[in-house]
Amino acid sequence: MKITAVRFLRVTGSWDYDGPLGEERLVRPVDIYPEFRDEGPGWFGPDAESPYPLSALFLLIDTDEGVTGMYGPTQDDVARIVQRQLARIVVGENPHAVERIWDKMYRHAIHGRKGPTMMAISHVDLALWDLKGKLLGAPTYELLGGPSRENIRTYASMLGYSIEPKLVTERLKEIVAQGYSATKWFFRNGPSDGEEGVRKNVELVRTVREAVGPDIETIFDAWNSWDVPYTLRMAELMREYRPWWIEEPVMPDMIPQYAEIRRSVSGVSISGGEHEYTRWGIKALLDAEAVDILQPDPTWAGGLTELTKIAALASSYGIPVIPHHGGIASTQFIASQTLTTCPMQEWLIQYGERFQVFLTHKIEPRDGYIDVPTGPGLCMELDDDAIETREEVTF
Ligand SMILES: [Mg+2]
Repeated sequence: MKITAVRFLRVTGSWDYDGPLGEERLVRPVDIYPEFRDEGPGWFGPDAESPYPLSALFLLIDTDEGVTGMYGPTQDDVARIVQRQLARIVVGENPHAVERIWDKMYRHAIHGRKGPTMMAISHVDLALWDLKGKLLGAPTYELLGGPSRENIRTYASMLGYSIEPKLVTERLKEIVAQGYSATKWFFRNGPSDGEEGVRKNVELVRTVREAVGPDIETIFDAWNSWDVPYTLRMAELMREYRPWWIEEPVMPDMIPQYAEIRRSVSGVSISGGEHEYTRWGIKALLDAEAVDILQPDPTWAGGLTELTKIAALASSYGIPVIPHHGGIASTQFIASQTLTTCPMQEWLIQYGERFQVFLTHKIEPRDGYIDVPTGPGLCMELDDDAIETREEVTF
């Protein structure tokens, strides 16, 4: 059996979404420059209303047996790398040979060990795992050694929601009523926002704790935008509200600074690795004792072939892997790993919904858990009813 083509399909339609959307964005490292600081969330524009116009790009890998694997949505920049650099390596290969194909792509893309090229390798790998599952008639997690459980504990990740205290409290009442046992919120302020920013960050932490009560775990993401002294001060101010972890306090390459923060802070875990790639990138974090929790994204860090290696590596250090969002790829990955290695999944409520509009299998957390799907492969199948136009595109 051989891979015969790597193709891209662009579909359009509309997204009927009943709920707040893109009200606020997170703090970003570039916000130290005043020209970026006041930029809004940049979703569909301030006056947009549901149904929102939407388009999405899907990667297809065909075989000479007529079975096709799929992954998506992917992005144009990533698709361009797949088509111009990776497709010729993949076509002609045995589609089951995921290790061989991954290694060939990695050796070919010597400048692309991180960032968009590794995302491109990840998306090819995910389409291959979808294909393998479809060829063998089994869910991908079964082929990887799962299922480790029937459903996965999930935390509600609130990117895009207002951090205005009254609204935070309202939304968290709903999140708790929906059965979530943990929730993550995103800071909007960093060192360049002065004392007012410190107060607003602490106000968010306090508001979240007061809204959810003592038994729900709270998590806060600084998205690489702080520095060491700011993080140590924030951790001290946050401690009385018992957050579970502070996420990505400093830029991803500042590994010794992560370790310094982790050594200096008590009572709050430090997480990182969302913007790290491959087993070698993750190993550097582990060797430096930089984080309490690792968050590689299976759609960025090397696909499922690489994430299983990362999981084995992390487990040998006793550090859990709670992947960055990753949607269905994370569900498949977590379902293949033990509860200690991968205790739970992130669900970005707004982004998660948006990225599965054109798919038949939709992740819908219930009582704070995601059901492990039973369909073959990654459950990647387009929903014809949601698609208004479709066009094969080349890059
Ligand atoms: Mg994050």
